[in-house]
Amino acid sequence: MSSKKRLVGVVPLGEVPEIALKVIAAHISGYFNLSVQILPPLEHPEYALDERRFQYNAGIILKAFESMRFKDYDKVIGVLNPDLFIPIFTHVFGEAKQGGKFALVSLFRLGKNPDGSSSPSSLIFERAAKVALHELGHLFNLLHCREKRCLMHFSGDIQDLDETPIYLCRYCSTFLKDRLLRLNLISSKERFR
Ligand SMILES: [Zn+2]
Ligand SMILES: [Zn+2]
Repeated sequence: MSSKKRLVGVVPLGEVPEIALKVIAAHISGYFNLSVQILPPLEHPEYALDERRFQYNAGIILKAFESMRFKDYDKVIGVLNPDLFIPIFTHVFGEAKQGGKFALVSLFRLGKNPDGSSSPSSLIFERAAKVALHELGHLFNLLHCREKRCLMHFSGDIQDLDETPIYLCRYCSTFLKDRLLRLNLISSKERFR
């Protein structure tokens, strides 16, 4: 058993459906075998709105997180409704600083299927969990993977995301396990998927 508690924090920014947070938290604990806690909501990040693009700048939100410390948590994932961008992309489903502490997941583009029809909420939450696990992978220093059947494969659109599995390929899984062992976040006896 891991001696560490409250390892990963999941924090809503503004109003986010509680079920989305719970599904994300359950996937983090189920697939990565880490302790997770849902944190009280932070304000809607109006400060990050880009008025020309009418989207929210992921880098500015991540920077704001840096000043908030979250000292009881090793990794923190912010979940929000608005559309996110980083300057080189039209939009992103999520964003994380490679090897860092903070990541973001946006629900904005997860509600539409590739054909434009609306998705059932169960699928929206599953996609959100997938994005969260992918970003958490970056926080543990996993890079994008060429293997299509791997959670760390890059997803540019919703079709990519749906075709990406929620699990890691053997290579990434070994890398992550090694990383968590080295950080002392899991013990070698712990089961890991
Ligand atoms: Zn990525
Ligand atoms: Zn992989």
